Amino acid sequence: FPTVTVLDVPFIKTTATQLLETLQQRILTQQNTFVVTANPEIVMYAHHNAAYHQLLQTADYITPDGIGILDGAKILKQPLPERITGFDTLTSLLQWASDQHRSAYFVGAKPEVIAKLKNSLTRDYPGLIIAGMHDGYFTDDTAIIADIKRTQPDMVFAALGFPKQEEFIAQHRHVTNGLWMGVGGSFDVLAG
Ligand code: UDP
Repeated sequence: FPTVTVLDVPFIKTTATQLLETLQQRILTQQNTFVVTANPEIVMYAHHNAAYHQLLQTADYITPDGIGILDGAKILKQPLPERITGFDTLTSLLQWASDQHRSAYFVGAKPEVIAKLKNSLTRDYPGLIIAGMHDGYFTDDTAIIADIKRTQPDMVFAALGFPKQEEFIAQHRHVTNGLWMGVGGSFDVLAG
């Protein structure tokens, strides 16, 4: 996709539908993919934190997850077509995974949220293969990474909040091919 750079962050200039098709294709062809859905908070944080900014540059796709980003692009006279949120991208991928019997691994949120999440995923996405789940309050990620490596999920969703989730993904994304995406507080919402 072409990109539009707002505050030194390159955002993909595409629609949610086109992105979704591309992500599905990349999953089916087992390409390693790192997606960041960046809201204005993330952009401002990256603006003041060189290490995080550099880490964002390693993402394959950065989407505009906030009206503030669209406003910025408009001011630059390079408008972006639409907002692409982490939550919507997550639920679209889960629906597709349910239809196609694809697998996903879930890391993040509190232990009680993870327990509830398992029930809602089983109910709402019956065809989804849950490769594994782990809460986001660990001190050592060795066992989690070993589990992801062993199960080789099509998708890994990290709900650790930023910047933790992007750091986690950038550090570990090469233990398996497929899609890796930070999804902020989405597990809390999905768990209901
Ligand atoms: N979280 C976690 N481990 C941590 C800190 C946070 O798993 O060490 C989880 C937290 O339980 C919540 C999510 O990460 O589910 C953060 O959501 P928030 O809305 O604060 O993140 P944002 O969307 O702003 O990145």
